[in-house]
Amino acid sequence: MSNRLIFLGPPGAGKGTQAQRVSESNNLLHLSTGDLLRAEVKSESELGKQISVVMNSGELVSDELVLSIVESKLVSKNSGWLLDGFPRNVTQAEALQSLLEKINQPVELVIFLEVNDELLLHRLIARGRADDNEEVIRNRLKVYREKTAPLVQHYTDQGILKSVKGDGSIESIETLIQAILV
Ligand code: ADP
Repeated sequence: MSNRLIFLGPPGAGKGTQAQRVSESNNLLHLSTGDLLRAEVKSESELGKQISVVMNSGELVSDELVLSIVESKLVSKNSGWLLDGFPRNVTQAEALQSLLEKINQPVELVIFLEVNDELLLHRLIARGRADDNEEVIRNRLKVYREKTAPLVQHYTDQGILKSVKGDGSIESIETLIQAILV
């Protein structure tokens, strides 16, 4: 079974929901950069305040910051992990690759959750997080298309990407993903 995974997809694709379920049932470390950043915001630290401004505009937080967070969590003794929301651009993907080479844990599989724009908007508006108002959502989708979507080709070229349709029920999508992992 593949146990070093990346979940890729637009905001609202259901990465977080699926990542939580799949990591629990397969005993993987779930690393969500969005959750880790939100925890920093919640702590009301000076850094958290700066992060909150960026997140609430829909832009990406600096690569340097996100990389240092991920680096502190991905250590050589991990038995398996699932990255959710990271990498989010080519710079992060390349930095991740060199980090993983150092600890001898290459990515085994990238799961790309595919959902059409109409459903994404609908789900995000229904979710109602601080960065889920319509204007910010539009910017997050734009940032996704410009910066993150090129990773689909990047990992396809490496031969490790598999697509899953993300428009069914939570359980049916989980079943599809689980079938790909074994
Ligand atoms: P969603 O999947 O809905 O986009 P996330 O929780 O993954 O939600 O991300 C929310 C916000 O957190 C992003 O819009 C961005 O500002 C920030 N963020 C999360 N992960 C990263 C990352 N890897 N690099 C830069 N910014 C990030």
